[in-house]
Amino acid sequence: AAFDGDDSGNTKPRQTPGVLYSKAIPTPVKKPELLAWSDELAQELGIEKPTDQKDIDILGGNYVAPSMYPYAACYAGHQFGNWAGQLGDGRAITLGEWEAPNGKTWELQLKGPGLTPYSRRADGRAVLRSSVREYLMSEAMHYLGVPTTRALSLVSTGDKVLRDMFYNGNAAYEPGAIVMRVAPSFLRFGSFEMPAARRENENLQKLVDWTIDRYYPHLQGENRILAWFKEIMEKTAALMVDWMRVGFVHGVMNTDNMSILGLTIDYGPFSFLDDYDPDFTPNTTDLPGRRYAFGKQASIAYWNLGCLASAIAPLLPGTEELVAILETYGDIFHEKYYAMMANKLGLDKVTEGDQELITRFTNTLYTLNLDMTIFFQLLIDAPQELKTEEETEAYFQNSFYRPLEKGERTTLHTLLTDYQKRLQANTVSREVAVQKMREANPRIILRNYLLHQAIEELEKGENTLFLKLQAAMKDPYSRNFDEFFAKRPDWASQKAGCSMLSCSS
Ligand code: AMP
Ligand code: MG
Ligand code: MG
Repeated sequence: AAFDGDDSGNTKPRQTPGVLYSKAIPTPVKKPELLAWSDELAQELGIEKPTDQKDIDILGGNYVAPSMYPYAACYAGHQFGNWAGQLGDGRAITLGEWEAPNGKTWELQLKGPGLTPYSRRADGRAVLRSSVREYLMSEAMHYLGVPTTRALSLVSTGDKVLRDMFYNGNAAYEPGAIVMRVAPSFLRFGSFEMPAARRENENLQKLVDWTIDRYYPHLQGENRILAWFKEIMEKTAALMVDWMRVGFVHGVMNTDNMSILGLTIDYGPFSFLDDYDPDFTPNTTDLPGRRYAFGKQASIAYWNLGCLASAIAPLLPGTEELVAILETYGDIFHEKYYAMMANKLGLDKVTEGDQELITRFTNTLYTLNLDMTIFFQLLIDAPQELKTEEETEAYFQNSFYRPLEKGERTTLHTLLTDYQKRLQANTVSREVAVQKMREANPRIILRNYLLHQAIEELEKGENTLFLKLQAAMKDPYSRNFDEFFAKRPDWASQKAGCSMLSCSS
């Protein structure tokens, strides 16, 4: 693809019309030290754990091997609903592509390696806090079975980085870090919006052809752009449903943070839900509008797909068919959503009555402020007959963040009674239903307060909790790490100011 004619690695912030990427060399850091390494991913990639400083220097951006071709991608995006123009990899540099022993190819990318032509007024760096979050969370999502970019390594840089601390608003120096993240491709919706906005049809066509040949090679023939868009839409809808299944809120669903492969990408102010709340957004920058709240993610994805459709439309003879495909999003999403919820509840299929039952469950979780993860875990093992309101209340006690009122107790009990009745109509055995539920409902999620504690410890040079979390997140459906099977403690509630984060870390 076209690249910025400036081959010098010049990092002067600039507009780069006519190009899809620019050469960018990582800026060396003071003292790269390996803090964490993903053994399983490394094995899949066929990369050995670094033992000498030279290998760690690669992960810290201090050494670029002759076989590498480091570059920063040029992309655009809609941020919070507004066209933002050129953005690009302002703090990410791809070192090159790696072929794994199984023939799969992966982009190896450093996040936080210093200035690129797309850094604008920022520093191209990442702090330890946000790097730990991306490192742990992307691996956690992978083991939860949610499509995601991966993280191979976490390196501390020995440098200090100036940031606004989210919890007191004062600028402060924080330790810097670099994550090596890994994905088949980091292309985003915004990668296509950029050449489209610049009316660079030839670049747009090249990029689309390359992307399809490379990542959607089964799509051939005349209508392949339409078929490609349909597949992106399906993958994106499936991703939204997976996020809803585990209670994940991304927090910054700008079109530059939407993967063309349907992966979770660009971990910033994300959070899992503790108490179920469709209005919850973890992003302080997203207030008061709450555009990226948990319950809005599926419709925001649709809006973003609309932006992608507009971007690729110039390559098509007309827009009718493209629009027709886009309009199937709602049906595709709803079918996937109810199928997922049926799995969470152990239902064999979804009838119209089941849709209503599912909605009663989410409404109850919301209005009673129940812990989503714990509630579904308790539901799996719920006794067939909870005879009284008191029994029901006592059984679900661990998922409560506050005492229930009388009417709420009744709501919960009636729901459970109706649910048990519905289960009796299942055409699959109890064992099969329970199995479905165990596979759909994680027991351990990477709660914000746990991340927060692990980071505080790491900043003091203590990695016990970090390592424990890293291990637990590899096995989130089991009972092997039940020390983390607990609701959010009071001190970490949103009211205590502990669950909000900003974009810019
Ligand atoms: P985000 O909202 O984090 O996905 O970032 C939006 C844009 O800001 C992207 O172009 C990023 O590369 C850029 N950006 C974010 N943080 C930094 C930073 N510290 N230095 C340079 N660019 C940044
Ligand atoms: Mg981004
Ligand atoms: Mg970011």
